[in-house]
Amino acid sequence: MRGFWWAHVGWVLSNEFDEYDPRSVAEFLGFPEIRWLDRHHWIPTVVFGAGIAWIGGWPVFLWGYVVSTVVLYHCTFAINSLAHLWGTRRFDTPDESRNNWCLALITLGEGWHNNHHHSPGSCRQGERWWEVDITYMVLRAMSWAGIARDLRPFRKAEWRPPVARVAQS
Ligand SMILES: [Zn+2]
Repeated sequence: MRGFWWAHVGWVLSNEFDEYDPRSVAEFLGFPEIRWLDRHHWIPTVVFGAGIAWIGGWPVFLWGYVVSTVVLYHCTFAINSLAHLWGTRRFDTPDESRNNWCLALITLGEGWHNNHHHSPGSCRQGERWWEVDITYMVLRAMSWAGIARDLRPFRKAEWRPPVARVAQS
């Protein structure tokens, strides 16, 4: 809504979101590991970067940490920018979000972004069987192994064509 570059990378470079209302994430605060990551978010990346440099030296650090992190960031950022410009809209959400199969493949499912905006609490973004969602597949496997639980399904109750939604309002 503030333009392409703000959507792509401006928001993450801004300090506009350094503070937040804990009530808006009350459910997450029940998990000590998430609270720990929120306080010490720099520790995992420093440990990984130092570890990969120690194991493989500078070339491995450059490709395995620096380049891979930049590529990962831009793939993630592309969901906020490109997935609001290119693709199809199944649901009449007020945000111009779109489903894009190419972005979904390179972001392991995040590219089904119109689905996500329609049902943001769902762990599943690929809503149809042919919408490949690797993240959801991994979460399902983790739930079968007992590592993850209470996976929230896509809210099928909200599946209505845009015309029907307009007619009801
Ligand atoms: Zn979005």
